[in-house]
Amino acid sequence: MSTKTLYIEQQIWDYLQEVTDPEIPVLNIIEMGIARGVSIEGDKVTVFITPTYSGCPAMDAIEKMVKEKLVEKGVSNFDVKLDFSQTWTTDWMTDEAKIKLKDFGIAPPEKTTSEEDFLKSISGTKIVPCPLCDSFETELQSQFGSTACKAQYFCNSCHQPFEHFKCI
Ligand SMILES: [Zn+2]
Repeated sequence: MSTKTLYIEQQIWDYLQEVTDPEIPVLNIIEMGIARGVSIEGDKVTVFITPTYSGCPAMDAIEKMVKEKLVEKGVSNFDVKLDFSQTWTTDWMTDEAKIKLKDFGIAPPEKTTSEEDFLKSISGTKIVPCPLCDSFETELQSQFGSTACKAQYFCNSCHQPFEHFKCI
């Protein structure tokens, strides 16, 4: 790989860093683990993105935002491809991203998303600590919060509703 290619690749990653998740504006798509790869062939740039959740409506918006960002930066020959070769897991989110998510008032996903955890989250028995006061006295109110990717919880300790990012 030539130095020029490496340079362009780094530039593209810098641009992608400016694309934030439409649902979670404090996080960019690299921190979210959505931007998976950049490939340069000649003057053609290909960006690979993996949806957090196959039915996540935000993906269309994210794909559009990536394209708009590349156009804005003067990249004319590019392609944005959805990469389904691996399944997105919350482990792809950086630890820093999870902290930012919590600061934003959304309970971050757990480190490991085993099937058992998933079943627990579906049945509502999973305990999600409150992102506002760290209390475990929380209860699930709805599997679907403002979007399908988030569940709505209520904290019985600080009496505040909050959302839990549950995409797996
Ligand atoms: Zn609370």
